[in-house]
Amino acid sequence: MHSDSDALFPTARGRHDAQPVYGHLIGGEWVDGAGTPLAVLAPATARPFAWIARGGAAQIDAAVQAARRALDGDWGRLTAAERGQLMASFGARVREQVERLAWLEAHDTGKPISQARADIRAVARYFEFYGGAADKVHGEVIPYLNGYNVSVVREPLGVTAHITPWNYPAQMFGRTVAPALAMGNAVVLKPAEEACLICLEFGEIARQVGFPAGSLNIVTGLGEEAGAALTAHPDINFVSFTGSPEVGRLVQEAAARHHVPVVLELGGKSPQVVFEDADLELAAATVCQAITQNAGQTCSAGSRVIVQRSVSERFQQLLAQRFAALRIGRPEDDADLGPVINATQQRRVLDFIENARADRLPVIAQAPVPAALSEGFFVPPTVFGPVPADNPLVCKEVFGPVLALQLFDTEADAIALANGTEFGLVAGVWTRDGARQQRMARRIVSGQVFINCYGAGGGVELPFGGTKRSGHGREKGLLALEELSTTKTIVNRYE
Ligand code: NAD
Repeated sequence: MHSDSDALFPTARGRHDAQPVYGHLIGGEWVDGAGTPLAVLAPATARPFAWIARGGAAQIDAAVQAARRALDGDWGRLTAAERGQLMASFGARVREQVERLAWLEAHDTGKPISQARADIRAVARYFEFYGGAADKVHGEVIPYLNGYNVSVVREPLGVTAHITPWNYPAQMFGRTVAPALAMGNAVVLKPAEEACLICLEFGEIARQVGFPAGSLNIVTGLGEEAGAALTAHPDINFVSFTGSPEVGRLVQEAAARHHVPVVLELGGKSPQVVFEDADLELAAATVCQAITQNAGQTCSAGSRVIVQRSVSERFQQLLAQRFAALRIGRPEDDADLGPVINATQQRRVLDFIENARADRLPVIAQAPVPAALSEGFFVPPTVFGPVPADNPLVCKEVFGPVLALQLFDTEADAIALANGTEFGLVAGVWTRDGARQQRMARRIVSGQVFINCYGAGGGVELPFGGTKRSGHGREKGLLALEELSTTKTIVNRYE
């Protein structure tokens, strides 16, 4: 673990039960929580190591009011270039502290330390990318009636609300907060109660580099308390939500009461289709990585592999070798995967595995959890197959390292299987046939399609988002700036 664990929590307000306790960031000040704080558990040990404030309607209201004041005050008066400079400073400050921030994130989520480092660098990249774009988003002039000048200007939405999940607390912060700030919105963030300390440290970094008071507010707490109060608040202008489809529906319903636009990112059951002419070794390695990274707790996890029957035996062997070689460990072991987030999620994943066994689905491979890890929330990475198309392992998001293998004969079968769930977030296609690559990419219903790769490079620059039950709206890339701004058409008669 990190050599000096006290140095991990510089933003904590004090101690609760001898452990660091954090407050809310409201109007540029750290505010103590009222009442008993919420314990934060380390997933690798199942032991509490910090506490967060349990915010509710009062703190949310104070944060929304502070955001509104920031828009009418110092934050709203900054030029786009000045916002971009602040964001660049934020990115630089994050890069100076990658090691400390990565240890905090790894401790909080249980993920291997090198994956946490990559997540922290991604946050710096989000702020660099969107900071650089802040002063390059232009309006347009439209030819119209003689004697008229018509311009379309882009403006911030106002107070933007952001509700994020626990699987990538750091990256989710970068992904949703950075484009909102770049466009000049004032942010109220309610991160996930299970893992959010990194967001609070980012809040402090924003303060230190000079973001005006109220431009970024963070209220921690439970979803049904702080989260619900935020989405129901009458003075927000936008909601970004990433999480479960069930809560996504509640968020959209709450926002609809005030006609507030919503971007929803709700996960998936993403397929990878492997044809007989593919590089099977590379495909097997990538398929294994795509379902075990972050212990399968990734909205874009490749949780189904759809394999052409003619190469299925060989592919299953390759997959079994990959799973057998997986290393499971605590963050400091820097293994291939760590624990899942908490006991509920562990039970949920183990139930999927036990039910699949009860359904007599063949186990292609399973990597056992080492006995030394019994105290943490670990689960065994497992591949089942062939799995019938109506089995829960094909239809439901497990959010754990469990892969379902399906078989196909023709290209048409492969497309039907790939499109055969209610989700449509990401897909992978493995074939050397160029025309087939295009046909598959066009016919798969999904927000992103990767060909002979999967999730390459992190994709800060690439638009991302779902179709069907995976949600709607786009994050990442320059398209996020359109979601987080609005246009105003100004018609000016000059003759
Ligand atoms: P969740 O949807 O319950 O929580 C996500 C966020 O929403 C958290 O910040 C939570 O506090 C907040 N929230 C909860 N109830 C709310 C409400 N009524 N109003 C407003 N905000 C509310 O997700 P979870 O319980 O953390 O995970 C459950 C499942 O969600 C997972 O098993 C997985 O399938 C899915 N999930 C998907 C993603 C993704 O990236 N798409 C991420 C995390 C979880």
